[in-house]
Amino acid sequence: MTKIRTRIAPSPTGDPHVGTAYIALFNTVFAKSQGGEFILRIEDTDQVRSTPESEQAILDSLKWLGLNWSEGPDIGGPFGPYRQSDRKDIYQRYSQQLLEQKHAFHCFCSSERLDTLREAQRLAGDDIGYDGHCRHLSETDVAAKLAAGESHVVRMVVPEEGTCIIKDLLRGDVEIEWQQVDMQVLMKSDGLPTYHLASVVDDHLMEISHIMRGEEWISSTPKQLALYQYFGWQPPIYAHLPLLRNTDKSKLSKRKNPTSITYYREMGILPEVLVNFLGMMGWTMPNGEEIFSLDAMVQAFDINRMSLGGPVFDLDKLNWLNGKY
Ligand code: GLU
Ligand code: ZN
Repeated sequence: MTKIRTRIAPSPTGDPHVGTAYIALFNTVFAKSQGGEFILRIEDTDQVRSTPESEQAILDSLKWLGLNWSEGPDIGGPFGPYRQSDRKDIYQRYSQQLLEQKHAFHCFCSSERLDTLREAQRLAGDDIGYDGHCRHLSETDVAAKLAAGESHVVRMVVPEEGTCIIKDLLRGDVEIEWQQVDMQVLMKSDGLPTYHLASVVDDHLMEISHIMRGEEWISSTPKQLALYQYFGWQPPIYAHLPLLRNTDKSKLSKRKNPTSITYYREMGILPEVLVNFLGMMGWTMPNGEEIFSLDAMVQAFDINRMSLGGPVFDLDKLNWLNGKY
């Protein structure tokens, strides 16, 4: 049997989010309950939005919560996280491979052209997506443009018809029409990968067996499955967790609930309490007990007992719980 390896892959672009802690918790618990490993990878390929402060705050929050990752570059003491900005050459190589095998192509379209296209599609009520303009440029044209230093991105090819079936541990088969899937940019004009390429390459190289992440990523999964297929790699098993919700069932938002872990820490919420509280999001202990530790959750965990019914982030409940400790 292959080793269970899970990961979280936060982007360091703001305050450490309770949603990250929630996803980290379930990845930790699932991996530990199966004798597996949980890994942290910082997805910092967006050079403009990523900051070292945000990365540090994510690391501090996870440590504070006791959600410790089990490997990474050895930085003389605790492990460092994997960081995508340290791995640029790797993505470059795999992008090259896709280009050579015609699973990807160079796109030289200007942002003006893409804006015009998007606007025309919007007015026509069409799906918004790349129209394949550069897909069939001749090799000589491409070589000439590259030699002239024309700005470009690399886009992936997607199947033109049929249905992508995502096998989700929590949801069963999720079907998405390939026609709905855009020819995603894989490499940006700055030579850095987008999330899709980098995460597939890393999840494969880091031997991630299960991807547990928020349901907002379901629509990204077909693109990622296509990449696994192009590379000839076995895809991981997916489990898309339900989004945290405000008490009115809307998506958890700063306006209705503070979303920064730092906020709860400063407010005097104990880390065990926040873990317990987030553990109640979609999970109940077999004995119905509401007060439980991370270890107890690991002991009892069974992914089949998770529910998809929109976990509610209720501050009254959090405060009630804090009073119980
Ligand atoms: N970087 C993505 C995020 O910010 C990772 C999503 C995933 O888990 O694949 O959450
Ligand atoms: Zn183009």
